[in-house]
Amino acid sequence: GKSDGKGQYRFFDPSLYKQIKSRTRLKQHLIEAIERDQLQLYYQPRVDTQTGQLCSMEALVRWIHPEQGVIPPLDFIPMAESNGLIVPIGELVIAQACAQLAQWRAQDLPLAPISVNVSPKQFSHGGIHRHLEAQLTRYQLPASLIEVEITESAMLGEHESILAQLAALRTLGVKLHVDDFGTGYSSLSQLQKLKMDVLKVDKAFTSQLGLSTEGRVFFQAIVSMAHALGMTVVAEGVETAGQLSILRDLGCNEVQGYYIARPMPAQEMAGMLQQHQAL
Ligand code: C2E
Ligand code: CA
Ligand code: CA
Ligand code: CA
Repeated sequence: GKSDGKGQYRFFDPSLYKQIKSRTRLKQHLIEAIERDQLQLYYQPRVDTQTGQLCSMEALVRWIHPEQGVIPPLDFIPMAESNGLIVPIGELVIAQACAQLAQWRAQDLPLAPISVNVSPKQFSHGGIHRHLEAQLTRYQLPASLIEVEITESAMLGEHESILAQLAALRTLGVKLHVDDFGTGYSSLSQLQKLKMDVLKVDKAFTSQLGLSTEGRVFFQAIVSMAHALGMTVVAEGVETAGQLSILRDLGCNEVQGYYIARPMPAQEMAGMLQQHQAL
């Protein structure tokens, strides 16, 4: 029977067990990675389309694994979002970004803001603005040196807790970016109501530029509406000179992508800050 204990094997699915076991093991590994300082930020510059000047750099986390090498975020961030580890990881990212800015400042390098990716879980857990404020104070940094990127889909619910924290971040003086714009269903007027400062148009749309008239028309519409609403437009995933030149013509404010530079370790980013060159 089922209730005598012996029948339990009927519900026992070995593949599911394996999955859970390996997920548990991965979670344990990730906890160790956090403790051993193996999560490191790479930086990717964002530049002005008209002047080529560095505007900011996006912090993109990597797991520097002693055996497996550099593990990309998509191999562990989604899992961290489902098992709750994204909260300590998110705090680590903010702390590391602030520490990095303070280190560069101590080396007399010209600074630019760092933008960090924030997952919706960090909002529901609460306290992200308090954590950020504490780190800014700890390193004596102005809030203008940290920007926050939130995916469009994360804001869709417009949950009270998210709204309140967005307001708190804004009050701190942190610029708010809508990440992956165009992949969700929010309207620009909704985003303006949330007082978002920057629209980062998803790379799926950048890759359409130059391929079809529709791609260009779509981008043009976003740029003119966003500008009318007082928002800055960034194109991500810019991979060719052709895309950059179309974006410049369309009045897109800033670009980020492999054509400009790939995400790089802090050391390399420091070299770029040092030269302070137009890219
Ligand atoms: P995202 O925020 O949309 O970041 C942009 C991704 O596009 C990065 O991938 C970047 O390396 C990649 N990229 C940049 N330029 C180009 C280009 O020209 N062409 C192409 N094809 N790709 C380009 P990455 O670093 O693998 O990060 C993937 C995602 O992982 C990020 O997407 C973000 O959602 C997430 N992520 C990364 N770091 C963090 C973090 O610290 N916290 C959270 N919550 N998520 C993070
Ligand atoms: Ca991002
Ligand atoms: Ca993005
Ligand atoms: Ca993305």
